[in-house]
Amino acid sequence: MADPKIHRCDVAIAGGGPVGLTLALALARRGYETVVADAGAPPAKGGNADSRAYFIAYGVWRIFKALGLGEALLVGAEPVLQVEAEGRIGGISFIAEDCAEPVLGYMVEASVLAEVLHAAVAAEKRVTLLSGARIASVELGDPCAVLKLADAEIQAPLVVGCDGMRSMVRQAAGLRFEGHDYDATAISTTVKLSQPHHGAARQIFLPNGPMAVLPLKNDHANLIWTEKAAVAEALVGLDDRGFELELAKRAGDFIPGARLAGARHAFPIGLYVAERFDAQRVALAGDSAHVIHPLGGQGLNLGLKDVAALVDVIATAGRAGLDIGAASALEPYTRWRRADVAATAAAMEGFARVFSSPLPVRLAAGLAMSVAGSVREARKLFAKEAGGDLGELPTLMAQ
Ligand SMILES: Cc1cc2nc3c(=O)[nH]c(=O)nc-3n(C[C@H](O)[C@H](O)[C@H](O)COP(=O)(O)OP(=O)(O)OC[C@H]3O[C@@H](n4cnc5c(N)ncnc54)[C@H](O)[C@@H]3O)c2cc1C
Repeated sequence: MADPKIHRCDVAIAGGGPVGLTLALALARRGYETVVADAGAPPAKGGNADSRAYFIAYGVWRIFKALGLGEALLVGAEPVLQVEAEGRIGGISFIAEDCAEPVLGYMVEASVLAEVLHAAVAAEKRVTLLSGARIASVELGDPCAVLKLADAEIQAPLVVGCDGMRSMVRQAAGLRFEGHDYDATAISTTVKLSQPHHGAARQIFLPNGPMAVLPLKNDHANLIWTEKAAVAEALVGLDDRGFELELAKRAGDFIPGARLAGARHAFPIGLYVAERFDAQRVALAGDSAHVIHPLGGQGLNLGLKDVAALVDVIATAGRAGLDIGAASALEPYTRWRRADVAATAAAMEGFARVFSSPLPVRLAAGLAMSVAGSVREARKLFAKEAGGDLGELPTLMAQ
């Protein structure tokens, strides 16, 4: 057998999803060379293999702007001007003006984001992307970590696990992933609305879980319908007309006359956070470090904030002439990010639990949200939190 091709770089990135590719671009802008290994194929032009669309909070959008991707993404993005979350009685609603911003964020289809990131990576000489490159094993030695592929290996002083919730990098580092699965599955699809959405991202809490309708271009919307796992499986198996009828039956008042306009995909839901986001030669970012309930649209936002913070931590260590893969250089990263992630995860857990509780608890929660929502300062806080604009902001997110 031929010797494996050896790639040497400053940072090896496991996983070329939205977090891995954004990290590669951000490190390149700071002068670091990266090699990204991703098991998947590059996105097909105009493909929609993933029906998800992401809410990207305005504070996090600054990362894309700073990387020069804002314009390309804006072509397919829909501004979010208002967020509404309703319980059985009452709920909360806030608008962009509550945080003195023109928008609360943007909805971007997963396929559009993938295309823009892949194009930017192809144009960046400091990034080598190996597609169709499944990582077979991860070795964490000194002075290098090694990602072993079928016919090549990547050597670097630091490996960042951006390889999703089943991260091999996290497992190689022996970091526990603590949490639980919900007995719930989110169905994601695109619908054509019968009425203009006016930039509103809306969510209601049905007895089996939340349903979100998130604005897309041309009065389409991304529907995220959370149901008990067995029910969701049955709903995904229905033909289009059957699915539309079930949707009308369960949520006809909320989303009247909606017609299916895309494929349906099912995503089991869980809540997991890694015990630490760093170890010797390792950092974790995105879903490899944390997975949360999709109800607040915050999972990728957290992952992109990880990217921005990690780039600052690496640059600080690099400037000081330290080994960027040393645990002592990476330790500030966990301190910076884990508390934010844990707080967001706890908030999503709280919403998910409260709104799947017996009716009196749901009523009380709806009322509590209404009371909070009537206070301007509370609305501002909600808006800034949802906008990813609170706490110690890394360089890429600074105004
Ligand atoms: C229904 C739903 C809706 C959501 N909506 C939102 C939203 O509106 N806003 C938001 O912020 N978040 C949202 N999220 C969360 C968001 O989808 C995730 O947080 C995000 O996809 C994580 O990106 P990632 O790059 O970390 O991981 P992933 O997207 O999982 O990418 C991991 C990559 O690693 C690669 N990989 C894995 N193993 C290997 C291996 N052994 N070798 C090589 N490559 C490997 C995979 O091919 C993949 O490309 C939603 C989630 C769900 C389920």
